[in-house]
Amino acid sequence: MLSQPKTAQSDAFLQQLSRCLPPARVLLDVEEMKPYECDALSAYKVLPLAVVLPETIDEVQQVLRLCQQFSIPLVVRGAGTGLSGGALPVAQGILLNMAKFSKILEIDPENRIARVQPGVRNLAVSEAAKANGLFYAPDPSSQIACTIGGNVAENSGGVHCVKYGLTVHNVLGIKYLNLQGELLELGSNCLQSPGYDLLALFIGSEGLLGVIVEVTLRLLPLPTTTATLLAAFNDIGQAGGAVAAVIAAGLQPSGLEMMDNPTIQAAEAFVHAGYPTDAAALILCEFDGMAEQVSEDLARAHALLISQGALEVRQATLESERQKFWAGRKAAFPAVGRITPDYYCMDGTIPRKHLAQVLQGISRLAADHGLRVANVFHAGDGNLHPLILYDANQGDELQRAEALGGKILELCIAVGGTITGEHGVGTEKIDQMCVQFSTLELTQFHALKAVFDPEGLLNPGKAIPSLHRCAEFGGLHVHRGQLPFPDLERF
Ligand SMILES: Cc1cc2nc3c(=O)[nH]c(=O)nc-3n(C[C@H](O)[C@H](O)[C@H](O)COP(=O)(O)OP(=O)(O)OC[C@H]3O[C@@H](n4cnc5c(N)ncnc54)[C@H](O)[C@@H]3O)c2cc1C
Repeated sequence: MLSQPKTAQSDAFLQQLSRCLPPARVLLDVEEMKPYECDALSAYKVLPLAVVLPETIDEVQQVLRLCQQFSIPLVVRGAGTGLSGGALPVAQGILLNMAKFSKILEIDPENRIARVQPGVRNLAVSEAAKANGLFYAPDPSSQIACTIGGNVAENSGGVHCVKYGLTVHNVLGIKYLNLQGELLELGSNCLQSPGYDLLALFIGSEGLLGVIVEVTLRLLPLPTTTATLLAAFNDIGQAGGAVAAVIAAGLQPSGLEMMDNPTIQAAEAFVHAGYPTDAAALILCEFDGMAEQVSEDLARAHALLISQGALEVRQATLESERQKFWAGRKAAFPAVGRITPDYYCMDGTIPRKHLAQVLQGISRLAADHGLRVANVFHAGDGNLHPLILYDANQGDELQRAEALGGKILELCIAVGGTITGEHGVGTEKIDQMCVQFSTLELTQFHALKAVFDPEGLLNPGKAIPSLHRCAEFGGLHVHRGQLPFPDLERF
């Protein structure tokens, strides 16, 4: 764990900082700051100079102006559930914790929008909108804890995104502060906004462009009927083929998820969801909407899954059974956490038709690196989450896990995919950005960042690698789908 050597500059900064906020909301002791030394990618830890908990926009403005005056870097944090090290503090910088911005400012059923502060938990929005028959669609499995600010910064996804889109498709506007502490507004409550689409640029910008202080979300009517199928396969390749077949048949599931055997076993032992523990893979396939359409889609999907080789297809007959199916999927990460000292969660996206080939490739690469992998993923989106199991206290297992993670992401690029589906780049995948993008493209990203943050104080060292770093990494960029991946023909 890194700690922060103090300098005369940082001492003067901290003195001024303690005049902006009450002492209880400026944490300086190592013990107080420890809970903030990492996000959910806990392999990497850094103690910041201070953790700051502002309550008002005015307080954030004062902090930002001070950071600019003293050239102090700043990392914003929501709930710290990020899996790519986006909210990892910077030594010599402050961590700006937005947890106290937790008010739902307005639910407007007539316009079907919610106006919220960034520290509001994802699930709290749907809970508040329910009385009006509405919900907020993007539903990360971490939705009980993660914040809307973090969701916007990561362009988060979830089970329902296969039908309703990612965060970027469900945010209408934001208010943010730049480093000068000026308040700016992007987007509007209308379907169209003139000018460049800077709102889309901000969504997924991983805290590199400004501090989000308010978000306007699109709400949708709650479906009248929801029904879920569970299909078990004894061959993971067949399950991958079944996912592609459901989509190719023109069906529009509201959730299409897949788990492999290690994940099924871990989830079943954890939440007793009723999963078939001997299956090589299972698929959860959900439809929502009007009762007649749901029942028709369900019958078609049932027949299709059987024709693709499913050993068993079960429909949840009771709502409690349906909730159990999902409880197992939503608890898959912590469930895997119970069977291994540490795990490293990868997040790549591939064209769905390559699912079977890439899953086979992952298992070969895992064997090459002497590690085990459990797979759970948003199959309908082609968004993979291989969980690499390792023990940080055993020799070079962490280094092997990192190397395997990098290879898996390169495999995703090799089949025409990308290195992230929803968890962002953060610190975790920064080297693979050198493979995904050309020098010219990365130069454009840097130019864009400089427009918003010329001094490079907002979340430095994350998401966009320096060209120097890429040169050292030796990453070979080629057009997507053309990466020479020597092992590809083996899979
Ligand atoms: C068990 C588990 C399951 C998960 N499942 C999913 C899933 O299904 N789908 C998915 O997409 N993700 C998932 N995640 C990842 C994570 O929950 C999401 O990335 C989430 O959006 C992070 O929100 P957060 O509030 O915790 O943000 P943090 O981790 O605190 O921060 C994430 C990033 O957002 C930036 N940020 C936060 N707030 C602001 C702000 N106000 N202004 C500017 N930048 C800001 C930070 O600087 C950082 O770069 C999962 C994580 C866990 C641990």
